[in-house]
Amino acid sequence: MSKFNNEALVNEIKGRLSIINLVESYTSVKKTGKGYVGLCPFHDDTNPSMHVDEDKGLFHCFSCGAGGDIFGFYMRYNNLSFPETLSELAKKAGVTIEEKPESVPRKSPNSVLYKINAVAAKYYRNILQESDQGKSGREYVENRRLSPETAKEFIFGFAPEGWDNLAKYLTKHKVPLNIAEKVGLIVKRKNTDGYYDRFRNRLMFPICNVEGKVIGFGGRRVNEEDEPKYINSPESDIYQKRKSFYGINKSKDHIRREDRAILVEGYTDFLSLYSSGIKNVVATLGTSLTREHVSLLRRYTKNVVVLFDSDESGRKAAKKSLDVLLSEGLLPHIVPLPPGKDPDSYIKEEGVDNFNKEIEKSISWVDFWFDMTSDRQKKGMITRKQMVEEIVELIQNLKDPVERSFRIKKAAEMLSVPESQIYSRVKIGRGQNKNQSVKNQQKYSNSEKLLMTALVKFPDLRVQLNKHEWNELITDGGIKSILKVIVEEEISDPSSLLLHFDDKEVHEMISEALLSSPSISDKETASKMVHGCIAKLKLSKLDQKLKVLRIEIDEAIKDKDVKLQKKLLEEYSVLKQEKQREEGRAL
Ligand SMILES: [Zn+2]
Repeated sequence: MSKFNNEALVNEIKGRLSIINLVESYTSVKKTGKGYVGLCPFHDDTNPSMHVDEDKGLFHCFSCGAGGDIFGFYMRYNNLSFPETLSELAKKAGVTIEEKPESVPRKSPNSVLYKINAVAAKYYRNILQESDQGKSGREYVENRRLSPETAKEFIFGFAPEGWDNLAKYLTKHKVPLNIAEKVGLIVKRKNTDGYYDRFRNRLMFPICNVEGKVIGFGGRRVNEEDEPKYINSPESDIYQKRKSFYGINKSKDHIRREDRAILVEGYTDFLSLYSSGIKNVVATLGTSLTREHVSLLRRYTKNVVVLFDSDESGRKAAKKSLDVLLSEGLLPHIVPLPPGKDPDSYIKEEGVDNFNKEIEKSISWVDFWFDMTSDRQKKGMITRKQMVEEIVELIQNLKDPVERSFRIKKAAEMLSVPESQIYSRVKIGRGQNKNQSVKNQQKYSNSEKLLMTALVKFPDLRVQLNKHEWNELITDGGIKSILKVIVEEEISDPSSLLLHFDDKEVHEMISEALLSSPSISDKETASKMVHGCIAKLKLSKLDQKLKVLRIEIDEAIKDKDVKLQKKLLEEYSVLKQEKQREEGRAL
């Protein structure tokens, strides 16, 4: 029951079983210099990319990101829960379990957040299904022709009208409101005590992670006068837009089976495809596709079809996602939709069969971009120079060298110039087109990752971390929870860290940290790394604050509010000095 028993049991099993022997019974591995490598059974691997480290008892695939300890491997390969895995591996190791394994789940600092979301999802669902308060929600579901089966499968719910229905319900069920606030279900009142419900008079769509745990909610208005049309949960320790897909818990097996994923934007398009029987679909949530999304998707397939809305704003949005897919080494296909049509309206008007035909006819994104760019130039929409630039930019995004040289050849033919000319431009231009803010973002999130890696390898460095308000500096929920455990549980042995988590994603982050980054091999380097990363993160935080202040100052000037101007300018100069000091330290 207690964590100690669980830990002792896990360690006993780990001591008796060899991770190499276990992995070898599923895929062949070869000894290399320091450890073992083999074909990864979790993605379509052709070039051995899974590393196994006997001493550390860990595996990690550097292609799809799968990773963890012997339990993680067994659990993932056989699709089992942790208690099931524990009891099966105990049998293999000849260890008897006195307690029922169901009572010893792995612990996670986030488990309480998942639990609160589950309570709320159930509450909303009951209102939609049974209560008088849910009538307008039921009418909306009926009007949108969403079937009762779909509503059930995706746990649709309804947030009733009124300011504190959920807050009262949570109080009655002894849910601490300050924790419910952390997942964004309720909001603290500004002037008086207490909380109010974030979602009111809205149809509720729970957003789940791969394992089916509720990580957030989307709420759609049912009354057309309410603004905005959609409200989503804010980001939290368990919900980040940039790595979450709506519906992936239900669609992942279909994607794997069909070896293809159809990418759409938002849950309306997702639900319309899924309920029409096209189930290998995923939807981003109010953001375009990110690298984190791609690495999640790659676990299930390399073949992605993007629906391409041919109007200007649709074209821009789709191009962003397509560029990310290319730069992550995938070769996406697209289906151009007729002007003014979205996936939802297309299926409703043209039917599922026609939609499926379009998917079968999908064309390579790179081919399409070449044709479209040349077409736009012929029509005089862009100059020849712009056409060359656009094509060079696309080629630069291609990861695969074979694909790249093939495209350079094609581009040379199309533009009637020698190949060497395209080659030289691709080289010169490489990396220069990246937008600065994206670069900054990557730099900072990179600091978070490096900081975590150093601490996972050398947990003693927590002393250094504790000198700062580090909690406020970290934005990634997974990284935050790992650091929290290192600090609060006083971890000394890195591989025991896994015991504290049940999220697959966190296991992968830890195994990656422990099996990669050979440059952080001694404590001194790691300590310098921690110092540098904290300084960078502090600077980034200060930059953000300064940016907000500048906007506020501009507004105060516009409003001619002299008193406010003075106050803000003072704040600004204090922050600016603090920034200079930090810059001095960061050197
Ligand atoms: Zn893999």
